[in-house]
Amino acid sequence: MAQNKPIPCPECDREKYYEGFCYYCKNRKLRELYEFMSVNEVQEKINNIVANIETINQLEEIYQDFRRLLAYQDIDTEEIANAAFQKRIFNPPTLYRNASEEVQNKLIALLSAPDCKEANDILNCLAVIGSEKIKEYFYELEKSTLPWRERLHATPSVYAESGGWTLDGSGKVVELNYKECYALTKEDRKDNAVKVGEALAETCSVCKCRTVNILTINGNDERLSFLGLNGTIKIPVCPNCANMCEKAIIRYQLDGESTFEIIDPYTNENYVSDREIARLAASNFVLSQTRKPVYYACGDDELSTIGGHPEWVQNCHYEKCPDCHKKMKLLSALEWSQLLDGEGVLYIEICTDCSVIAVIHQQT
Ligand SMILES: [Zn+2]
Ligand SMILES: [Zn+2]
Ligand SMILES: [Zn+2]
Repeated sequence: MAQNKPIPCPECDREKYYEGFCYYCKNRKLRELYEFMSVNEVQEKINNIVANIETINQLEEIYQDFRRLLAYQDIDTEEIANAAFQKRIFNPPTLYRNASEEVQNKLIALLSAPDCKEANDILNCLAVIGSEKIKEYFYELEKSTLPWRERLHATPSVYAESGGWTLDGSGKVVELNYKECYALTKEDRKDNAVKVGEALAETCSVCKCRTVNILTINGNDERLSFLGLNGTIKIPVCPNCANMCEKAIIRYQLDGESTFEIIDPYTNENYVSDREIARLAASNFVLSQTRKPVYYACGDDELSTIGGHPEWVQNCHYEKCPDCHKKMKLLSALEWSQLLDGEGVLYIEICTDCSVIAVIHQQT
């Protein structure tokens, strides 16, 4: 018989139409399982991945173990990269994050062959490694005319973006990700490092929705010193337009004053109720007490983060700063479902030279 009465989740009471934990609690438990593994358990898992590396493309046990260990245990992937290279496996590119110099050289040698068939995959692997040598090599490649270049959809500096860096026109390296990562979690404790979803008095000029400071960051908090922000920045958005539009541009000052502009509004209809805004404003997000792995947002649990590598819902996308035209750096990625009804991720990118922020939303 069809089950059509909602069943509450035994952990969080969220209603759904199947037995057991809800989607969110299931993913949280998976994260905790991997986060609390002992050093020995982690090494056993790594050994198992190395021994069975050829099954990683089946996207089953070995693949899931790998991405969860990377996200939640920040594993060193050197041994895994050795095994993957021996079998000529280049996916996912993060297998190669900590590849030895020897493997890096071999990847470069493969790519330097005029008829390299795997150029696309190898460029992604090298982008993830992102060593000084690779950055120099990409600059050389950018100018080269190897025959396989014609089959690629993008230049090497665009491939580099998937590894969190790129090259500007003069070959200078531009970092697109911070090397530290903290999570934003809903917890019952006081913490003034961040504030999420503070409701503002103003309404949006496009859709009349109540606006919010989607994120307030206290750059003087010790944990956030890696951002290099000597003050407090507020990131005001219209939550309705943010969910609909391509992007918003925010100009901030370090005293908390900010203005925002919505680029190319899609509709002037408002789908976000005052009740939802009030719920968001009452949610108590805090900054994690400890630093998290840089790929923390790339596991099963849909987590909001500051710094680190984001999980892109669609293709990776770094905005160009509207003032200096350099690529902007990923400041934060917020899981929409943790904020308001709806889905996807809100990506917040920053140019600290120009005090400009771009906010973009992606969903499947
Ligand atoms: Zn639940
Ligand atoms: Zn709006
Ligand atoms: Zn700029």
